[in-house]
Amino acid sequence: MLEVRGIQTYYGNIQALKNVSLNIGEGEIVTLIGANGAGKSTTLMSICGVTPPRHGEILFRGRPIQQLSAEQIVKLGICQVPEGRHIFPQMSVLENLEMGAYLRADKSGIKADIEQVFGRFPILGKRRHQAGGTLSGGEQQMLAISRALLARPALLLLDEPSLGLAPLIIKQIFEIIRQINAENNTTVFLVEQNANQALKIAHRGYVMENGVITLEDRAENLLSNEDVKRAYLGM
Ligand code: ATP
Repeated sequence: MLEVRGIQTYYGNIQALKNVSLNIGEGEIVTLIGANGAGKSTTLMSICGVTPPRHGEILFRGRPIQQLSAEQIVKLGICQVPEGRHIFPQMSVLENLEMGAYLRADKSGIKADIEQVFGRFPILGKRRHQAGGTLSGGEQQMLAISRALLARPALLLLDEPSLGLAPLIIKQIFEIIRQINAENNTTVFLVEQNANQALKIAHRGYVMENGVITLEDRAENLLSNEDVKRAYLGM
């Protein structure tokens, strides 16, 4: 579905991604793990057009997208949930969800999808008229993911959904991601520092260090890899 070929991404003169290649198959959950500052977010931002790579190629279903704008990339079916969630704090839960559907015109489909969100997250339904900024961190993460789903993406990019959340809530969020992949047939690219949880729900994973992919394998193999255990799983 997505093929990243040798991308190099810069912030001014600083090279954040050195030669990153990875691929994501239709229907997969693929995770990218690594330490703080390794380049995980930059990889995600390069795919969705926010920090386009200076060199290399990104193919979505065979089509080069590295020169498209972020909006054109969303229109192709690639949606991101950024680190820190970035919901609209003054808008209600319902309005936040409606914003996610801004490229769609099928009013009844949007309504049905919003009801589906409230079925999946009853707490969001209960708080539909409450301002987004008044929700707890976990609820805001649920809202951010749901808002992205309102665009009906084929590929969902998630940047550190577990950041700043309590362990029990993290478990719920990862279970929700697993369900979204299994039930909605949404392909997921998951950037995470919480390697343990991410590898538990992913099919495959990549490990990144200093802007370079150093390891790739099936998730269960990475979970039992001694180097990964030592460096990222605290074992
Ligand atoms: P984290 O988990 O902390 O988000 P990360 O693996 O996602 O880390 P990136 O945020 O992609 O890493 O950062 C990769 C490198 O690029 C780091 O050295 C970082 O300091 C640098 N960097 C990131 N954003 C910028 C920016 N806006 N301007 C300059 N340098 C940046």
